[in-house]
Amino acid sequence: MTGMTGATEWLTKIMLRVAAGVSLLASLWYFEPPKPAFQLCGFHWLTGRPCPLCGLTRAMFALAKGHWSEALGFNALGPLAFAMVAGLFWNDGPMRRRVWTCGIAAFAIYGVWRIFLPVT
Ligand SMILES: [Zn+2]
Repeated sequence: MTGMTGATEWLTKIMLRVAAGVSLLASLWYFEPPKPAFQLCGFHWLTGRPCPLCGLTRAMFALAKGHWSEALGFNALGPLAFAMVAGLFWNDGPMRRRVWTCGIAAFAIYGVWRIFLPVT
C-alpha cells in the first residue's frame, strides 16, 4: 500500500465504512429475520427467562424497517444496540468507546431486570 497519500487513505477508510454500514442497513431492511427451528439462546432454553440479548436480532431487523414499537417489544434496548453497531462504522475514537461502555452497562442492568421481572 505505497503511493497512497494520507488524504486518499483516510477517504478510502471512510468510504469502506460507509459502504459496510449501508450494506448492513440495506440487508436488515430488505430481509426478514431468520426463524431458527430450535431455541438459539442457551440461557432462555435453560431458565425459561430471556437474557439481555434475547430478541435483539429481530429488533435490529425491525428498526432497519422503521418499526420502532415492534423493535422495542422484541428488546427494549434494541435502539441502543442499533446505535452501538452504527458506532462501529463511525470512527474508532473515544466517543465509540464511551457509547460501547455505557451500552454494555445498560445491557447488564437490563439483563438483571429481565431475569427477575415477572413474565408478562
Ligand atoms: Zn437470550
